[in-house]
Amino acid sequence: MGQGAISVTAASSNEPQLVVKGLSEDGFWLVEACGLELHIYGDNLEEALGSPGGKQLLPASSVFIEAADDAGESACGAVSELNALLAERDLQLCEALRLLRRLLQDAEEEQESVAEEGDYHADAHDSAAGSGYVSGDFQEAPLLEEPADLPRVHEASIRPAAGCEDEFEAAMERLVASFTESAADLGVVFESRDVAPLVLRHCGWDDGEALRKFQADAAFLTREAGVPLAPARRPPSGPRKCGICFDDFPDAALPLHGLSLGCEHWFCKDCWCQQLNVVARGGPGGGGSGLLDARCPWPGCGLRVGSSTFRLLGLEKLAVSFWKALLHSFLSEGSLVVECPGCRKRVLLGAAKPDAGPCRQCSRRFCSLCFGEAHGPLTCAEHRTWAAMLEDAKQGALQKLASRFRCFFALGEDGPAARRCPNPQCGAMTQRAEGCLFMHCPRCTEMWCFNCGDWGGGPCGKPRPHHVFFCMEVPSDITWLDGHSSLCEDANFEFHRSLWESRGAQSSEIKVESEDEDVLAAVADVEAAAKEAQQALRLGAAWRFFERSDDRRRLFEFAEGDMTRLLEQLATMPSKPSTTFRADSIASRLQRHRTLAAALRTQAQALRSYRRMGTA
Ligand SMILES: [Zn+2]
Ligand SMILES: [Zn+2]
Ligand SMILES: [Zn+2]
Ligand SMILES: [Zn+2]
Ligand SMILES: [Zn+2]
Ligand SMILES: [Zn+2]
Ligand SMILES: [Zn+2]
Repeated sequence: MGQGAISVTAASSNEPQLVVKGLSEDGFWLVEACGLELHIYGDNLEEALGSPGGKQLLPASSVFIEAADDAGESACGAVSELNALLAERDLQLCEALRLLRRLLQDAEEEQESVAEEGDYHADAHDSAAGSGYVSGDFQEAPLLEEPADLPRVHEASIRPAAGCEDEFEAAMERLVASFTESAADLGVVFESRDVAPLVLRHCGWDDGEALRKFQADAAFLTREAGVPLAPARRPPSGPRKCGICFDDFPDAALPLHGLSLGCEHWFCKDCWCQQLNVVARGGPGGGGSGLLDARCPWPGCGLRVGSSTFRLLGLEKLAVSFWKALLHSFLSEGSLVVECPGCRKRVLLGAAKPDAGPCRQCSRRFCSLCFGEAHGPLTCAEHRTWAAMLEDAKQGALQKLASRFRCFFALGEDGPAARRCPNPQCGAMTQRAEGCLFMHCPRCTEMWCFNCGDWGGGPCGKPRPHHVFFCMEVPSDITWLDGHSSLCEDANFEFHRSLWESRGAQSSEIKVESEDEDVLAAVADVEAAAKEAQQALRLGAAWRFFERSDDRRRLFEFAEGDMTRLLEQLATMPSKPSTTFRADSIASRLQRHRTLAAALRTQAQALRSYRRMGTA
């Protein structure tokens, strides 16, 4: 410890107490609170920790807390939830402590209730993490090879989309690995394992974007992201001179006396450690998240320090903090994790993206773009349109026509005042000023006609739309005004609407007589998969209405046919074990159920994959 000081902070006797033990050499404050030993990283913490009653405000994302190594799993979970809160809002120190106390209590209660349920959830969760099952994709669902070899846990009821740190970490690692592979396909070999995560973070954890930038201008991207481009040419090793203390040191890997990040700026080990501890403690660019921005100390160099550098220098704790800060960035800035609108927990996006779920906490399946119910293969605009058209269809023919004309032709002054930009990649709501119908979208910079939604003239390369005061054209894109604008053939719509309705009437219930718990759980999972499959099939009826390409529609119909046949198997599933075949044991029934559930989910995903591009 740098200082032997011990101070105690608490407003009153029922407030959580904070005992400050001092500043460690690794750059964190060692404190005791809520029965835990905590390491607090951040700016100007002396003042906050010393303030009477802990009233000092901790500005958002300026502190990072980690639990000491011997803390239990639930305590670590509570601390990381607290970090997530600290990253989002300003909190008083005493508030943070109260929150931590509550999070710890919640974690304890959760553990107790899990224990009461016979470790059922804990088991299911362990095997979910172990088999790498986090996406909404059951294609690789492990099927039993030997019916006799039954696993102890209820594999069939594992929920694919999760809300737990391990799985998020695994997802981040998978993203890094697949990005590294794709880059290798482009002929880019990274200098070290540190490069890929730093580049991904720089590109908002969007691997597609990162690859596009690599292809466009690799040198520019690497300079921007602060990573070395090609493996650095190492001049013959000899004594190096530290750029800070000017001491000479030998260039050897073991024992390490100093290093450079791949640039030609060498620093001795002591100077490196000192520099990085300053960053961790909250020097320039400090705080826990500041570690992500630690750079080569050479003025103007800009290369970033990655986790392997911390390890090489023996700064294990900082390496761990760095990794946690990276995970935090992945969760808060990445697009693979979204907040569930039902329970506000984080949910990982899987193969069904942009559809998300089912959420592990509240089972909700939702669209991560519009946060309504999941609606693949329809886009959000098509889904809105379809709902509006169904609503419209309930009205009489005359009102229907009247409402269409009212919403549609922006004639005179009483027409609508604002409409969405018709560019499907944009959809920004835009106010119509007085004068002509010619609009200029401030977001996507395309131009468009307020009446007919014809658009172009901007970056997309489409021709510029007409510039008029009055327009009598009919919109060519019927999803643009959520269907009210459509003057499409009613018969075509009626056909798809009745298909939609008949598909909505099917039941996914299975009648099974069985005492066996495993069989009942497997049946419940088949029912859940069937419900998901029927929903995809139903949305498929609407999808067909919007699709213009006959070829795609035909392919889609094949996929629908496969799905229908799978769903028919539900009806023919025997409700009792067969008496003729002795081999029809519980194990083989289980296997049949699991195979069917996996096939239903695969087929639902196949239907959803027909979703058209566009963000709105
Ligand atoms: Zn030095
Ligand atoms: Zn440098
Ligand atoms: Zn939820
Ligand atoms: Zn949506
Ligand atoms: Zn004009
Ligand atoms: Zn726009
Ligand atoms: Zn027009």
